[in-house]
Amino acid sequence: MPATVYGKPAVEVQQPDGELVAYLVLPVVADESEWRAWLVTSPKGETHRVSELPDGGCKCSCPAWKYNRHAAGRWCEANGVPVCKHAGAIWNEIIRPAMEISA
Ligand SMILES: [Zn+2]
Repeated sequence: MPATVYGKPAVEVQQPDGELVAYLVLPVVADESEWRAWLVTSPKGETHRVSELPDGGCKCSCPAWKYNRHAAGRWCEANGVPVCKHAGAIWNEIIRPAMEISA
């Protein structure tokens, strides 16, 4: 069952200690470089923008994503670990389930 926060759509974001925390997720209009985009907001009110690119890659506005240069542009590193926790949550709860339905 999809997570919600105060009845609004949310994704479960895995914290560094392994805890799953529900973050609000809002689909937003993609800009010209993106295919789809979402705003992901933590319980503390910190918002990051995660986008899916036309080539299937991704982008997140958080520092962890920005500084993970060898995996930049991808959802996951070669070992399947998400490049950042926001991209990981969007991948696991929005992108991958939709791919399984259409497969
Ligand atoms: Zn991020």
